[in-house]
Amino acid sequence: MRICRIRHRDNLRFAECVGDSLLLLPRNWKLGDPYESGSGAPSVSVSAADFTVPVNPSKIVCVGRNYAAHAKELNNPVPASPLLFLKAPSSLIADGDPITIPSQSSQVEHEGELGVVIGRRCKDLSESDSAIGHVLGFVCANDVTARDLQKSDVQFTRAKSFDTFCPIGRFVETSSDVSDVLLSVYVNGSLRQNGRTSEMIFDIPFLIRYISRQMTLNAGDLLLTGTPSGVSRLLPGDICKVQIESVGSLSNPVQAGETG
Ligand code: ZN
Repeated sequence: MRICRIRHRDNLRFAECVGDSLLLLPRNWKLGDPYESGSGAPSVSVSAADFTVPVNPSKIVCVGRNYAAHAKELNNPVPASPLLFLKAPSSLIADGDPITIPSQSSQVEHEGELGVVIGRRCKDLSESDSAIGHVLGFVCANDVTARDLQKSDVQFTRAKSFDTFCPIGRFVETSSDVSDVLLSVYVNGSLRQNGRTSEMIFDIPFLIRYISRQMTLNAGDLLLTGTPSGVSRLLPGDICKVQIESVGSLSNPVQAGETG
């Protein structure tokens, strides 16, 4: 099942995508609420829809250096336990919206990542709890990063949380097995990143259990699972596309911010 969110008569509404049609979910429906596929109300076609981001997370939890080849390209050691940081939810933008290069940075880079959308509240999951059972689905994501500020600040908050620094795809894909799928990033059509999710140092169930022991994960929260090698600089005028097998794709133009 593919879940999206659209602007519909001055409201934001979740919808299920079936072929080229969208079925509207009940007005008060939230991510993680029960829904039987096919039971929504018919509405506009995909081509006529005005899509927005399909999540409204209380937090975006990210994992740094979760692919060994990416840790190596930045001359960082492979971590012994997940390196967690947060990205501000205000950095979210939709498929097609522009990534804005802030004037404070001269090295903004793409990080194509598999996003995990939590479907059920989880706290202190044990080894015997099903971590995947708390997942609603998966999205394409881009953990856009001001690499120069990440290095100079040491803390990641500023480098990761500028407005527009978290593009995510239109659809939450609920039924895919993403344990070994290809993740690729293209800039202006040329391949920059290419890795398989099976190369993650800490896999998705491990990450969910680990994070749930530091903070409660709520339905709708977003987890970004790290990026493969090949990160590179984005410049105004570029088009950055993230593609994940069996999940979908995400494409954003890049523009310069105000100077000053
Ligand atoms: Zn990242």
